[in-house]
Amino acid sequence: MAKIEDNVTLKNITAHSKEYGFIFPSSEIYDGLSAAYDYGQNGVELKNNIKQFWWKAMVQMNENIVGLDASIFMHPTTWKASGHVDAFNDPMIDNKDSKKRYRADNLIEDYIQKIEGKINKEVTKAAKRFGDSFDEKQFKETNPRVLQNQEKIDRINARLKKCMDESDLGDLKALIEDLGIACPVSGTKNWTDVRQFNLMFSTELGSLAEGANKIYLRPETAQGIFVNYLNVQKSGRMRLPFGIAQIGKAFRNEIIARQFIFRMREFEQMEMQFFVKPGEELDWYEKWKTSRMKWHQALGLGNEKYRFHDHLNLAHYANAACDIEFDFPMGFKELEGVHSRTDFDLKAHEEHSGKKLQFFDPKEEKSYVPYVVETSVGLDRLFLSVLSAAYTEEKLADGSSRTVLKLPPFLAPVKVAVLPLVNKDGLPEKAREILAELQLEFNTQYDPKDAIGRRYRRQDAIGTPFCVTIDNDTLADNTVTIRERDSMEQKRVSVDELVATLREAVSMTKLLKQLV
Ligand code: ATP
Repeated sequence: MAKIEDNVTLKNITAHSKEYGFIFPSSEIYDGLSAAYDYGQNGVELKNNIKQFWWKAMVQMNENIVGLDASIFMHPTTWKASGHVDAFNDPMIDNKDSKKRYRADNLIEDYIQKIEGKINKEVTKAAKRFGDSFDEKQFKETNPRVLQNQEKIDRINARLKKCMDESDLGDLKALIEDLGIACPVSGTKNWTDVRQFNLMFSTELGSLAEGANKIYLRPETAQGIFVNYLNVQKSGRMRLPFGIAQIGKAFRNEIIARQFIFRMREFEQMEMQFFVKPGEELDWYEKWKTSRMKWHQALGLGNEKYRFHDHLNLAHYANAACDIEFDFPMGFKELEGVHSRTDFDLKAHEEHSGKKLQFFDPKEEKSYVPYVVETSVGLDRLFLSVLSAAYTEEKLADGSSRTVLKLPPFLAPVKVAVLPLVNKDGLPEKAREILAELQLEFNTQYDPKDAIGRRYRRQDAIGTPFCVTIDNDTLADNTVTIRERDSMEQKRVSVDELVATLREAVSMTKLLKQLV
């Protein structure tokens, strides 16, 4: 078997997801809704398995972490306290000719990327010219054209950062004009002013007659945890350090949502807020960084696909922060954030609610507001990382090709397919008997139609790790053939051993043990 194409594109993943029931555009019969997606019959299974792996590792395996399922609607003051009403903004700009809308900072970032492209071109050219003796570092430090471009990038980055930090929308527009950035659609530089755009969706609670109140769809799940800090601490008799974990939907009116499920307007987060004694937060931050990276790597998608990106410019409430980035088809991008958020959120909720949100420390005999370290991962981005690492097109020894999802077996939507070799001679009856046994433990599929090769391909395409074939020998000696997805190897096992063999092969427990 040989890989046909190393360069898996987002287009491949999007098309495969739709064709095989993983992800559909939302309300597609009405031409879809931008940046909203529906998880299909296989997608929902894969997503649930990812959630389960997170929940088990986070809640079940840590005696000082408990779960929560807070409502999406929250008292509107929550978002005033958290800073989202005043500051959860992106700068937007419109081109007056094409009427297209952009994020002003993204236009500048794309411009920087183009200059980076020029540098890379110079490097590739020189590498070809110098052959084995090429020293990339030295070349970048001495080549005048590269140096000039790098200086340009640094200058633009510094000005962009200043504009963003100081919300200087006038200079942001001036920067776009100074760089001569044109609209990719109309090609003109006829821009509106830059305006701040709040990313929260709002709606009204209650009927107008009752006096409706403006409320928001939560833009993050974290605030549901903060406002329940005391409820959980008291009812669970929790002592510091302890954590509260939650999986749930979040909504952001992203100015431009693109790249499939990477940036959606409705998405799901898996967040954990870890409450610690002030002064201990940076130790815990380091521990959670390590622990989260280990969790990602346990999925077995390839350790080289992950890297940390430490934030040098911290948000006003954080005293340390990093992203765990994944090598998506469009390059390394943020998958999860780990943030040391100090006591910013709990203090803000104390001020706005007038309620104390503190912990009485029996050793110190005093109360204080705990500090918080949070881990926050997007479930949909995680799904995309799994799918893009698993998607493989292969050329087989007989000259044919197949598309196979090499999913970690414990995440696969269907664990085992039961296939009677022919749809007669008592084989379907025997196959259904075996199916009934397997269904008690695994998500299974029964497929009696078409040549066996085509049935295998269908299962490969959805990532089913095992196919069990029932043939005439099964009737005689109660054995079946198990075919493994990646190696395509087949072996004969007794029906009596089938459940135990499969249980071992698709076990999540094995993976969880690596995390202990
Ligand atoms: P980005 O910089 O990509 O907009 P962010 O830094 O705003 O992300 P956080 O607020 O830290 O993201 O949210 C935590 C996680 O939630 C992110 O790491 C990401 O996995 C996920 N997430 C955030 N926004 C979206 C979105 N629009 N669609 C899908 N997942 C998202």
